[in-house]
Amino acid sequence: MTEANTQPEVNIGLVGHVDHGKTTLVQALSGSWTDQHSEEMKRGISIRLGYADATFRRCPGVDAPECYTVDEECEDGSESEPIRTVSFVDAPGHETLMATMLSGASIMDGAVLVVSATEDVPQAQTEEHLMALDLIGIENIVIAQNKVDLVSRDRAVDNYEQIQEFVEGTVAEDAPIVPVSAQQEVNLDLLIDAIETEIPTPDRDPGESARMYAARSFDINRPGASAEDLKGGVVGGSLVSGELSVGDGLEIRPGREVDEEGQTEWRPLETTVRSLQAGDRDVETAHPGGLLGVGTGLDPSLTKGDALAGQVAGEPGTLPPTREEFEMKVDLLDRVVGKEDDESGESDIEEISTGEPLMLTVGTATTVGAVTSARDGECEVSLKRPVCAEEGAQIAINRRVGARWRLIGVGTLT
Ligand code: GDP
Ligand code: MG
Repeated sequence: MTEANTQPEVNIGLVGHVDHGKTTLVQALSGSWTDQHSEEMKRGISIRLGYADATFRRCPGVDAPECYTVDEECEDGSESEPIRTVSFVDAPGHETLMATMLSGASIMDGAVLVVSATEDVPQAQTEEHLMALDLIGIENIVIAQNKVDLVSRDRAVDNYEQIQEFVEGTVAEDAPIVPVSAQQEVNLDLLIDAIETEIPTPDRDPGESARMYAARSFDINRPGASAEDLKGGVVGGSLVSGELSVGDGLEIRPGREVDEEGQTEWRPLETTVRSLQAGDRDVETAHPGGLLGVGTGLDPSLTKGDALAGQVAGEPGTLPPTREEFEMKVDLLDRVVGKEDDESGESDIEEISTGEPLMLTVGTATTVGAVTSARDGECEVSLKRPVCAEEGAQIAINRRVGARWRLIGVGTLT
Protein backbone atom coordinates (compact mmCIF):
# COMPACT_ATOMS: atom_id res chain seq x y z
CA MET A 1 0.00 0.00 0.00
CA THR A 2 1.44 3.38 -0.94
CA GLU A 3 1.54 6.19 1.57
CA ALA A 4 -1.38 7.96 -0.09
CA ASN A 5 -3.84 5.13 0.40
CA THR A 6 -3.20 4.73 4.11
CA GLN A 7 -5.55 7.70 4.29
CA PRO A 8 -9.02 6.29 4.82
CA GLU A 9 -10.98 6.38 1.56
CA VAL A 10 -14.52 5.69 2.66
CA ASN A 11 -16.70 6.62 5.66
CA ILE A 12 -18.83 3.90 7.18
CA GLY A 13 -21.44 4.79 9.75
CA LEU A 14 -22.15 2.52 12.71
CA VAL A 15 -25.82 2.80 13.57
CA GLY A 16 -28.28 0.95 15.75
CA HIS A 17 -29.87 0.83 19.17
CA VAL A 18 -27.97 1.88 22.27
CA ASP A 19 -25.91 -0.91 23.88
CA HIS A 20 -26.16 -3.20 20.88
CA GLY A 21 -22.37 -3.03 20.51
CA LYS A 22 -21.47 -0.32 17.97
CA THR A 23 -18.53 1.05 19.92
CA THR A 24 -17.28 -2.43 20.82
CA LEU A 25 -17.40 -3.44 17.16
CA VAL A 26 -15.48 -0.34 16.07
CA GLN A 27 -12.91 -1.12 18.72
CA ALA A 28 -12.57 -4.72 17.56
CA LEU A 29 -12.01 -3.61 13.97
CA SER A 30 -9.79 -0.60 14.58
CA GLY A 31 -8.14 -1.20 17.92
CA SER A 32 -9.21 2.24 19.09
CA TRP A 33 -11.99 3.27 21.38
CA THR A 34 -14.19 5.99 19.95
CA ASP A 35 -15.71 7.00 23.30
CA GLN A 36 -12.69 9.20 24.06
CA HIS A 37 -14.37 12.38 25.06
CA SER A 38 -14.37 12.60 28.86
CA GLU A 39 -18.02 13.62 28.87
CA GLU A 40 -18.78 10.60 26.73
CA MET A 41 -16.99 8.38 29.17
CA LYS A 42 -18.99 9.80 32.01
CA ARG A 43 -22.31 9.31 30.32
CA GLY A 44 -21.20 6.06 28.73
CA ILE A 45 -22.60 7.02 25.35
CA SER A 46 -21.01 8.47 22.25
CA ILE A 47 -22.32 12.01 22.38
CA ARG A 48 -20.14 13.21 19.53
CA LEU A 49 -19.53 11.54 16.26
CA GLY A 50 -16.43 9.50 16.89
CA TYR A 51 -14.23 8.52 13.99
CA ALA A 52 -11.89 5.52 14.11
CA ASP A 53 -9.84 4.25 11.19
CA ALA A 54 -9.33 0.58 10.40
CA THR A 55 -7.11 -1.02 7.80
CA PHE A 56 -8.58 -4.20 6.37
CA ARG A 57 -5.92 -6.76 5.47
CA ARG A 58 -5.64 -10.08 3.68
CA CYS A 59 -3.53 -13.12 4.53
CA PRO A 60 -1.74 -14.34 1.40
CA GLY A 61 -2.54 -17.84 0.19
CA VAL A 62 -5.75 -18.09 2.24
CA ASP A 63 -9.24 -18.21 0.65
CA ALA A 64 -11.99 -15.65 1.32
CA PRO A 65 -13.51 -15.00 3.77
CA GLU A 66 -10.95 -16.54 6.16
CA CYS A 67 -8.18 -14.41 4.62
CA TYR A 68 -9.66 -11.15 5.97
CA THR A 69 -8.24 -9.66 9.15
CA VAL A 70 -7.24 -6.43 10.86
CA ASP A 71 -4.15 -8.03 12.41
CA GLU A 72 -0.74 -7.53 10.83
CA GLU A 73 0.25 -11.09 11.56
CA CYS A 74 -1.61 -14.07 10.10
CA GLU A 75 -2.26 -17.31 11.97
CA ASP A 76 0.65 -19.03 10.22
CA GLY A 77 3.02 -16.26 11.27
CA SER A 78 3.23 -14.61 7.83
CA GLU A 79 2.52 -10.92 7.34
CA SER A 80 -0.90 -9.80 6.11
CA GLU A 81 -1.28 -7.37 3.19
CA PRO A 82 -3.26 -4.15 3.59
CA ILE A 83 -6.26 -3.82 1.24
CA ARG A 84 -8.13 -0.67 2.21
CA THR A 85 -8.32 1.80 5.06
CA VAL A 86 -11.84 2.76 6.09
CA SER A 87 -13.09 5.26 8.61
CA PHE A 88 -15.89 4.31 10.98
CA VAL A 89 -18.23 7.02 12.17
CA ASP A 90 -19.66 5.79 15.44
CA ALA A 91 -23.05 7.41 15.69
CA PRO A 92 -24.73 7.59 19.06
CA GLY A 93 -27.57 5.20 19.83
CA HIS A 94 -29.26 7.39 22.38
CA GLU A 95 -32.44 8.59 20.73
CA THR A 96 -32.39 12.21 21.87
CA LEU A 97 -29.19 12.46 19.83
CA MET A 98 -30.86 11.59 16.55
CA ALA A 99 -29.69 14.92 15.15
CA THR A 100 -26.08 13.91 15.61
CA MET A 101 -26.75 10.63 13.86
CA LEU A 102 -28.34 12.50 10.97
CA SER A 103 -25.42 14.93 10.69
CA GLY A 104 -23.21 11.87 10.47
CA ALA A 105 -25.42 10.47 7.74
CA SER A 106 -24.42 13.33 5.43
CA ILE A 107 -20.82 12.11 5.51
CA MET A 108 -21.47 8.35 5.41
CA ASP A 109 -20.80 6.41 2.22
CA GLY A 110 -22.39 3.32 3.71
CA ALA A 111 -23.44 1.94 7.06
CA VAL A 112 -23.20 -1.06 9.35
CA LEU A 113 -26.46 -1.54 11.24
CA VAL A 114 -25.69 -3.29 14.51
CA VAL A 115 -28.53 -5.40 15.93
CA SER A 116 -28.16 -7.33 19.17
CA ALA A 117 -29.27 -10.96 19.07
CA THR A 118 -30.30 -10.73 22.72
CA GLU A 119 -33.34 -8.51 22.13
CA ASP A 120 -36.46 -8.61 19.99
CA VAL A 121 -36.28 -6.81 16.64
CA PRO A 122 -36.71 -3.93 16.12
CA GLN A 123 -35.73 -1.91 19.17
CA ALA A 124 -36.68 1.77 18.99
CA GLN A 125 -33.47 3.18 17.49
CA THR A 126 -32.89 0.17 15.26
CA GLU A 127 -36.05 1.25 13.50
CA GLU A 128 -35.40 4.97 13.71
CA HIS A 129 -31.84 4.73 12.36
CA LEU A 130 -32.82 2.45 9.51
CA MET A 131 -35.56 4.93 8.60
CA ALA A 132 -32.97 7.72 8.62
CA LEU A 133 -30.65 5.76 6.31
CA ASP A 134 -33.61 5.20 4.03
CA LEU A 135 -34.55 8.90 4.01
CA ILE A 136 -31.02 10.20 3.50
CA GLY A 137 -30.50 7.63 0.75
CA ILE A 138 -27.69 5.50 2.16
CA GLU A 139 -28.07 2.25 0.29
CA ASN A 140 -24.84 0.38 0.94
CA ILE A 141 -25.63 -1.41 4.16
CA VAL A 142 -24.31 -4.43 6.05
CA ILE A 143 -26.18 -5.76 9.08
CA ALA A 144 -24.13 -7.09 11.98
CA GLN A 145 -26.16 -9.43 14.18
CA ASN A 146 -24.09 -8.92 17.31
CA LYS A 147 -23.70 -10.68 20.68
CA VAL A 148 -24.32 -14.14 19.23
CA ASP A 149 -22.04 -15.44 22.01
CA LEU A 150 -24.82 -14.68 24.49
CA VAL A 151 -27.65 -16.64 22.88
CA SER A 152 -28.46 -20.24 22.02
CA ARG A 153 -28.36 -21.40 18.42
CA ASP A 154 -32.17 -21.49 18.25
CA ARG A 155 -32.51 -18.02 19.62
CA ALA A 156 -29.89 -16.75 17.13
CA VAL A 157 -31.85 -18.29 14.25
CA ASP A 158 -35.14 -16.76 15.48
CA ASN A 159 -33.51 -13.39 15.85
CA TYR A 160 -31.97 -13.67 12.37
CA GLU A 161 -35.43 -14.32 10.93
CA GLN A 162 -36.81 -11.32 12.84
CA ILE A 163 -34.14 -9.12 11.27
CA GLN A 164 -34.97 -10.45 7.80
CA GLU A 165 -38.64 -9.72 8.33
CA PHE A 166 -37.93 -6.26 9.73
CA VAL A 167 -35.81 -5.09 6.77
CA GLU A 168 -38.22 -6.38 4.15
CA GLY A 169 -39.34 -3.52 1.93
CA THR A 170 -36.67 -1.14 3.29
CA VAL A 171 -33.39 0.13 1.85
CA ALA A 172 -31.66 -2.70 3.77
CA GLU A 173 -33.77 -5.44 2.19
CA ASP A 174 -30.83 -6.97 0.31
CA ALA A 175 -28.19 -6.20 2.92
CA PRO A 176 -26.25 -9.25 4.11
CA ILE A 177 -26.80 -10.18 7.77
CA VAL A 178 -23.59 -11.35 9.41
CA PRO A 179 -23.75 -13.01 12.86
CA VAL A 180 -20.82 -11.72 14.95
CA SER A 181 -19.55 -11.25 18.45
CA ALA A 182 -17.79 -7.91 18.65
CA GLN A 183 -16.59 -8.67 22.15
CA GLN A 184 -15.29 -12.19 21.44
CA GLU A 185 -14.08 -11.14 17.96
CA VAL A 186 -16.02 -13.92 16.23
CA ASN A 187 -16.74 -13.77 12.47
CA LEU A 188 -14.99 -10.44 11.93
CA ASP A 189 -13.51 -11.94 8.73
CA LEU A 190 -17.04 -12.51 7.39
CA LEU A 191 -18.01 -8.97 8.33
CA ILE A 192 -14.97 -7.48 6.57
CA ASP A 193 -15.77 -9.59 3.51
CA ALA A 194 -19.34 -8.23 3.48
CA ILE A 195 -18.15 -4.62 3.91
CA GLU A 196 -15.61 -5.02 1.09
CA THR A 197 -18.39 -6.24 -1.20
CA GLU A 198 -21.28 -4.00 -0.15
CA ILE A 199 -19.58 -0.69 0.68
CA PRO A 200 -17.15 0.11 -2.13
CA THR A 201 -15.14 3.32 -2.22
CA PRO A 202 -17.22 5.80 -4.25
CA ASP A 203 -15.88 7.03 -7.59
CA ARG A 204 -14.64 10.54 -7.05
CA ASP A 205 -13.33 13.27 -9.30
CA PRO A 206 -10.23 14.88 -7.75
CA GLY A 207 -10.71 17.81 -10.15
CA GLU A 208 -13.96 18.92 -8.48
CA SER A 209 -13.69 21.86 -6.13
CA ALA A 210 -13.03 21.00 -2.52
CA ARG A 211 -16.07 20.80 -0.25
CA MET A 212 -15.85 19.90 3.41
CA TYR A 213 -18.55 19.51 6.07
CA ALA A 214 -17.31 20.64 9.47
CA ALA A 215 -18.33 18.39 12.34
CA ARG A 216 -16.04 19.87 15.00
CA SER A 217 -13.80 22.88 15.52
CA PHE A 218 -11.16 23.55 18.14
CA ASP A 219 -8.68 25.90 19.74
CA ILE A 220 -5.63 23.65 20.25
CA ASN A 221 -3.61 26.17 22.25
CA ARG A 222 -2.90 25.61 25.92
CA PRO A 223 -4.25 28.33 28.18
CA GLY A 224 -1.65 31.07 28.56
CA ALA A 225 0.30 30.20 25.38
CA SER A 226 2.40 33.18 24.28
CA ALA A 227 1.39 35.16 21.20
CA GLU A 228 4.22 33.83 19.02
CA ASP A 229 3.40 30.20 19.93
CA LEU A 230 -0.30 30.66 19.25
CA LYS A 231 -1.60 28.21 16.64
CA GLY A 232 -4.46 29.06 14.29
CA GLY A 233 -7.92 27.55 14.67
CA VAL A 234 -8.51 23.92 13.68
CA VAL A 235 -11.57 22.67 11.81
CA GLY A 236 -12.43 18.95 11.84
CA GLY A 237 -14.74 17.28 9.38
CA SER A 238 -14.95 15.33 6.17
CA LEU A 239 -14.19 16.26 2.62
CA VAL A 240 -17.06 15.16 0.42
CA SER A 241 -15.55 16.23 -2.90
CA GLY A 242 -12.29 17.41 -4.42
CA GLU A 243 -8.91 17.55 -2.71
CA LEU A 244 -7.42 19.96 -0.21
CA SER A 245 -3.70 20.80 0.00
CA VAL A 246 -1.53 22.78 2.37
CA GLY A 247 -1.39 26.37 1.05
CA ASP A 248 -4.88 26.28 -0.53
CA GLY A 249 -7.27 29.12 0.13
CA LEU A 250 -10.28 28.21 2.26
CA GLU A 251 -13.67 29.83 2.63
CA ILE A 252 -15.98 28.86 5.49
CA ARG A 253 -19.73 29.58 5.44
CA PRO A 254 -21.94 30.84 7.01
CA GLY A 255 -18.84 32.11 8.85
CA ARG A 256 -19.39 34.44 11.76
CA GLU A 257 -22.02 36.79 12.95
CA VAL A 258 -20.95 40.41 12.96
CA ASP A 259 -22.77 43.15 14.73
CA GLU A 260 -22.51 46.58 13.16
CA GLU A 261 -24.50 49.48 14.54
CA GLY A 262 -27.20 47.19 15.85
CA GLN A 263 -27.44 45.26 12.56
CA THR A 264 -26.24 41.67 12.61
CA GLU A 265 -25.17 39.75 9.58
CA TRP A 266 -23.28 36.56 8.77
CA ARG A 267 -19.98 36.96 6.92
CA PRO A 268 -17.98 34.12 5.40
CA LEU A 269 -14.50 33.52 6.81
CA GLU A 270 -11.50 33.35 4.50
CA THR A 271 -8.17 31.85 5.39
CA THR A 272 -5.52 29.44 4.11
CA VAL A 273 -4.85 25.79 4.87
CA ARG A 274 -1.71 25.73 7.05
CA SER A 275 -1.63 22.04 7.92
CA LEU A 276 -3.65 18.89 7.28
CA GLN A 277 -4.09 15.81 9.40
CA ALA A 278 -5.69 12.72 7.93
CA GLY A 279 -5.66 9.22 9.36
CA ASP A 280 -3.73 10.59 12.38
CA ARG A 281 -0.81 11.78 10.25
CA ASP A 282 0.27 15.08 8.75
CA VAL A 283 -0.31 15.08 5.01
CA GLU A 284 0.27 17.57 2.18
CA THR A 285 -2.91 16.68 0.31
CA ALA A 286 -6.12 15.18 1.65
CA HIS A 287 -8.93 13.46 -0.24
CA PRO A 288 -12.45 12.39 0.79
CA GLY A 289 -12.69 9.68 3.45
CA GLY A 290 -12.13 9.82 7.18
CA LEU A 291 -11.85 12.69 9.57
CA LEU A 292 -9.73 15.57 8.41
CA GLY A 293 -8.17 18.13 10.72
CA VAL A 294 -7.46 21.41 8.94
CA GLY A 295 -5.07 23.84 10.61
CA THR A 296 -6.01 27.36 9.47
CA GLY A 297 -4.82 30.90 9.94
CA LEU A 298 -8.04 31.79 11.76
CA ASP A 299 -8.05 33.38 15.18
CA PRO A 300 -8.56 30.35 17.46
CA SER A 301 -11.33 32.15 19.32
CA LEU A 302 -13.41 31.67 16.16
CA THR A 303 -13.01 27.88 16.19
CA LYS A 304 -13.15 27.25 19.92
CA GLY A 305 -15.68 24.82 21.37
CA ASP A 306 -17.12 23.55 18.05
CA ALA A 307 -18.15 27.08 17.08
CA LEU A 308 -17.85 26.17 13.38
CA ALA A 309 -19.49 22.72 13.61
CA GLY A 310 -22.17 22.41 10.93
CA GLN A 311 -20.50 24.91 8.59
CA VAL A 312 -19.22 24.23 5.10
CA ALA A 313 -15.64 24.87 3.95
CA GLY A 314 -14.09 24.81 0.51
CA GLU A 315 -12.44 26.59 -2.36
CA PRO A 316 -13.21 30.33 -2.09
CA GLY A 317 -16.02 31.42 -4.36
CA THR A 318 -17.43 27.94 -4.93
CA LEU A 319 -19.61 27.44 -1.84
CA PRO A 320 -23.41 27.43 -1.84
CA PRO A 321 -25.22 30.51 -0.49
CA THR A 322 -25.86 31.21 3.16
CA ARG A 323 -29.57 31.00 3.88
CA GLU A 324 -31.43 32.47 6.82
CA GLU A 325 -34.67 31.14 5.42
CA PHE A 326 -35.58 28.69 2.70
CA GLU A 327 -38.36 26.79 1.03
CA MET A 328 -38.48 23.04 0.87
CA LYS A 329 -40.53 20.27 -0.66
CA VAL A 330 -41.63 17.96 2.14
CA ASP A 331 -42.10 14.20 2.29
CA LEU A 332 -43.56 13.10 5.60
CA LEU A 333 -43.26 9.63 7.10
CA ASP A 334 -46.46 7.66 7.62
CA ARG A 335 -46.01 7.53 11.38
CA VAL A 336 -43.58 8.37 14.14
CA VAL A 337 -40.90 5.70 14.30
CA GLY A 338 -38.72 4.67 17.19
CA LYS A 339 -41.20 5.41 19.94
CA GLU A 340 -40.85 3.44 23.16
CA ASP A 341 -44.02 1.69 24.32
CA ASP A 342 -44.36 3.83 27.44
CA GLU A 343 -44.15 7.14 25.58
CA SER A 344 -47.09 9.44 25.18
CA GLY A 345 -47.91 11.51 22.11
CA GLU A 346 -49.55 10.84 18.79
CA SER A 347 -48.10 8.23 16.48
CA ASP A 348 -49.70 9.64 13.36
CA ILE A 349 -47.85 12.47 11.67
CA GLU A 350 -49.97 15.54 11.08
CA GLU A 351 -49.22 17.99 8.26
CA ILE A 352 -46.70 20.73 9.08
CA SER A 353 -48.46 23.90 10.18
CA THR A 354 -47.55 27.58 10.04
CA GLY A 355 -45.85 28.81 13.20
CA GLU A 356 -44.62 25.48 14.46
CA PRO A 357 -40.92 25.02 15.35
CA LEU A 358 -38.95 22.33 13.52
CA MET A 359 -35.47 21.02 14.09
CA LEU A 360 -33.70 20.73 10.75
CA THR A 361 -30.51 18.89 9.91
CA VAL A 362 -28.79 20.10 6.74
CA GLY A 363 -25.40 18.51 6.05
CA THR A 364 -23.69 18.53 9.44
CA ALA A 365 -25.69 21.57 10.58
CA THR A 366 -28.60 21.33 12.97
CA THR A 367 -30.76 24.38 13.39
CA VAL A 368 -34.20 25.27 14.67
CA GLY A 369 -36.57 26.88 12.21
CA ALA A 370 -40.00 28.41 12.53
CA VAL A 371 -42.46 27.56 9.79
CA THR A 372 -43.53 30.82 8.15
CA SER A 373 -45.84 29.26 5.61
CA ALA A 374 -47.02 25.73 4.92
CA ARG A 375 -49.11 24.27 2.16
CA ASP A 376 -49.49 20.92 0.44
CA GLY A 377 -46.12 19.20 0.52
CA GLU A 378 -44.16 22.43 0.77
CA CYS A 379 -43.11 24.79 3.50
CA GLU A 380 -41.06 27.88 4.19
CA VAL A 381 -38.89 28.17 7.28
CA SER A 382 -37.06 30.98 8.97
CA LEU A 383 -33.90 29.77 10.76
CA LYS A 384 -32.45 30.70 14.13
CA ARG A 385 -28.95 30.07 12.72
CA PRO A 386 -28.36 30.22 9.00
CA VAL A 387 -27.02 27.30 6.98
CA CYS A 388 -24.90 27.06 3.87
CA ALA A 389 -26.78 24.79 1.47
CA GLU A 390 -27.53 24.47 -2.20
CA GLU A 391 -30.72 23.77 -4.07
CA GLY A 392 -31.57 20.09 -3.91
CA ALA A 393 -29.93 19.63 -0.48
CA GLN A 394 -31.64 17.04 1.70
CA ILE A 395 -32.98 18.10 5.03
CA ALA A 396 -34.03 15.86 7.90
CA ILE A 397 -37.13 17.29 9.55
CA ASN A 398 -37.79 16.76 13.24
CA ARG A 399 -40.83 17.82 15.25
CA ARG A 400 -41.41 17.87 18.97
CA VAL A 401 -43.59 14.87 19.78
CA GLY A 402 -44.30 14.43 23.46
CA ALA A 403 -41.08 15.40 25.23
CA ARG A 404 -38.70 14.73 22.32
CA TRP A 405 -37.66 15.74 18.84
CA ARG A 406 -38.75 13.07 16.42
CA LEU A 407 -37.87 12.50 12.80
CA ILE A 408 -41.06 13.16 10.82
CA GLY A 409 -39.80 13.43 7.27
CA VAL A 410 -37.34 14.72 4.75
CA GLY A 411 -37.22 17.97 2.86
CA THR A 412 -35.57 18.98 -0.40
CA LEU A 413 -34.40 22.56 -0.64
CA THR A 414 -36.05 24.30 -3.60
P1 GDP B 1 -23.18 0.87 21.81
O1 GDP B 1 -24.06 1.67 22.72
O2 GDP B 1 -23.97 0.32 20.66
O3 GDP B 1 -21.95 1.59 21.36
O4 GDP B 1 -22.72 -0.43 22.64
P2 GDP B 1 -21.33 -0.77 23.33
O5 GDP B 1 -20.32 -1.14 22.31
O6 GDP B 1 -20.99 0.30 24.29
O7 GDP B 1 -21.70 -2.15 24.06
C1 GDP B 1 -22.65 -2.21 25.11
C2 GDP B 1 -22.32 -3.36 26.04
O8 GDP B 1 -22.42 -4.60 25.37
C3 GDP B 1 -20.89 -3.31 26.57
O9 GDP B 1 -20.90 -3.72 27.93
C4 GDP B 1 -20.15 -4.33 25.72
O10 GDP B 1 -19.05 -4.90 26.38
C5 GDP B 1 -21.23 -5.35 25.45
N1 GDP B 1 -21.02 -6.06 24.17
C6 GDP B 1 -20.84 -5.50 22.96
N2 GDP B 1 -20.70 -6.44 22.01
C7 GDP B 1 -20.78 -7.63 22.63
C8 GDP B 1 -20.72 -9.00 22.19
O11 GDP B 1 -20.55 -9.31 21.02
N3 GDP B 1 -20.87 -9.96 23.15
C9 GDP B 1 -21.05 -9.65 24.47
N4 GDP B 1 -21.17 -10.67 25.34
N5 GDP B 1 -21.12 -8.38 24.91
C10 GDP B 1 -21.00 -7.39 24.01
MG1 MG C 1 -21.31 3.53 21.68
